[in-house]
Amino acid sequence: MGKETVIDAPAKINLSLDVIGKRENGYHDVRMIMQQISLHDTITITVEENGNKGSCADGASGLITVGTNSGELPVNEDNLVYKAAKLIMDECRISKPVRIFIDKHIPIAAGLAGGSSDAAAVLKGMNSLFDLKLKDERLKDIGVRIGADVPYCITGGTALAEGIGEVLTPLPSIPDCFILIAKPGISVSTGYVYTAFDSLEDKIHPDVDGMISTINEGNLQGMAALLCNSLEGVTQEEYPVIKEIKRLMLDNRAIGALMSGSGPTVFGLYRDKESALAGADAVKKSGKAQDIDVTEPLNKGNR
Ligand code: ATP
Repeated sequence: MGKETVIDAPAKINLSLDVIGKRENGYHDVRMIMQQISLHDTITITVEENGNKGSCADGASGLITVGTNSGELPVNEDNLVYKAAKLIMDECRISKPVRIFIDKHIPIAAGLAGGSSDAAAVLKGMNSLFDLKLKDERLKDIGVRIGADVPYCITGGTALAEGIGEVLTPLPSIPDCFILIAKPGISVSTGYVYTAFDSLEDKIHPDVDGMISTINEGNLQGMAALLCNSLEGVTQEEYPVIKEIKRLMLDNRAIGALMSGSGPTVFGLYRDKESALAGADAVKKSGKAQDIDVTEPLNKGNR
């Protein structure tokens, strides 16, 4: 067996998500507060030292094999890890075959950026495996070609994301807490939600700057009070189960609850693990969610 690297690809939630405009190319301008959580996929990249070298004429195609324990993911060029590997291999002229395995734990099409995080992990993993010495800024430039959330997934921690999501400002770590994740058994297309948002008459806009202040103060209660996501106006109206799960969390010791990204995953903030476990129990008993996890914020220690 050749050289191998194993990296975690953490999920994210949005503590605040505002859609502030639409560009001519269809992309939306956003202001979002992103937070990584301990729930993660595990990505293993193996270099096949004895594999065929492959022809460079068509770049890295044919040199990348993708595998996963998930029955729901494509294992061809549609997988975001394939796209990430191909981009970096073409850019850095790597012609050794690689095998990428995704041990999937993050719910798919959930608003948790699972695919973007897998892609970011591959960019970081390939950088170290092949000793490419690419700086994070360069990895982010490659990443944004795969998806708007990939640059954030490379930086991680707590951050303000602006532009289409790629203009990042690091924020202090949030206070210790527990985050209950619950995804109902529906899948939501991010593209559809943004398109439907454009035609909403009454749009809600969160107080993103207020959220930044509460994070700067380390004020968990203040953060909980300001949780807000513009896209709830679409997804929550279409799928009332989202509102129901939020209600259940709030009735079971959560200090705040919100839909993440374009949904349908709901998260609840809890002061302690016991409360989060009680919330998880209540959601489980209700039968309203398919994937339930008690997680913690993944902090970079900047406070
Ligand atoms: P975001 O929060 O960034 O909108 P998401 O959590 O809603 O992302 P993902 O789980 O990243 O959504 O996946 C969205 C789509 O991307 C799915 O339809 C899936 O088939 C495809 N996809 C391709 N590669 C992956 C991957 N490695 N992991 C998850 N989804 C992938």
